[in-house]
Amino acid sequence: AKAQGRSGISIYTQNMQQETQDKLNLYNDLHQAIEQQAFTLVFQPQINEQTEITGAEVLCRWTNRGVPVSPEVFIRAAEETRLILPLGQWILSESCRVLKRWRQQNVLPESFRRLAVNISPAQFMDENFERYVTDQVSGNDLCSAQLELEITESIFLGNKDTIRSKMQRLSSMGFTFALDDFGTGYSSLSYLQHLPLHKLKIDRSFVMDIEDNTRPARIVDSIIQMGQNLGMDIIAEGVEHQAQRDYLQNHGCCEFQGYLFSRPLAEDEFLEFVRHNSAL
Ligand code: C2E
Ligand code: CA
Ligand code: CA
Ligand code: CA
Repeated sequence: AKAQGRSGISIYTQNMQQETQDKLNLYNDLHQAIEQQAFTLVFQPQINEQTEITGAEVLCRWTNRGVPVSPEVFIRAAEETRLILPLGQWILSESCRVLKRWRQQNVLPESFRRLAVNISPAQFMDENFERYVTDQVSGNDLCSAQLELEITESIFLGNKDTIRSKMQRLSSMGFTFALDDFGTGYSSLSYLQHLPLHKLKIDRSFVMDIEDNTRPARIVDSIIQMGQNLGMDIIAEGVEHQAQRDYLQNHGCCEFQGYLFSRPLAEDEFLEFVRHNSAL
């Protein structure tokens, strides 16, 4: 931090200024992109024990000035500025529109149950969330069971009573909740008792080292058993190798998502995947 730049400002300060400027530019671009609806959605198939397609996770994509921006970056930036509210609404409504189209075109296999949509904590906490999500579902002639809301443990940092009652209302309307990145958060397990969670999504970090049959594998065993004891469905994310799938399936995990089956796909690629898969 001792190095001095031309103006006498330390390199450190210059870097901070640059970072701040980059951030402001990103916020600016993001704001415009939201107004112009410059995002796209991709769909990653979810697969059952019979290798049928049970659903898909919706993931958002953004190319800014010709450069793809990682969702880790732009979703975080959107969360920092509350731009996640309009962006999240667009993601929800576009997901519902796509699903309506697929149903009208009758292109989905029997086994297809739902689209899983990621919901940021700020989006879930927004007072308009319930109205928005129910409006989108009914406006597209869908039923709420066709939408799975993926939340993460970080949501539980908010007010527990508010969260619980909101989840209970949505759940009684037929929406289901999947707890994403399970095992990586800092919350206690007590919320599993009190909240209407339908599914646990085992985080990729545990799935990654599963073949070694060491600690990650034991953790996965425990998650599966606990989920089963609580009557929850289990899905594993980040399944890349057949050995991982075999291990998971042999230990009672019935649903998978990952590169072993498919990357997240644009709509036409997804429908191609569906056609190819049902022909197997
Ligand atoms: P996530 O919800 O945990 O999504 C799973 C991420 O893992 C996705 O990254 C997906 O492309 C990637 N992935 C899927 N299968 C594999 C695999 O087999 N191996 C590996 N290495 N990776 C795999 P992506 O699309 O870059 O998204 C990153 C994160 O950004 C997401 O993590 C989620 O937290 C956030 N995100 C993405 N789209 C949305 C969205 O529409 N709304 C919200 N709120 N967050 C989103
Ligand atoms: Ca997710
Ligand atoms: Ca995840
Ligand atoms: Ca994860």
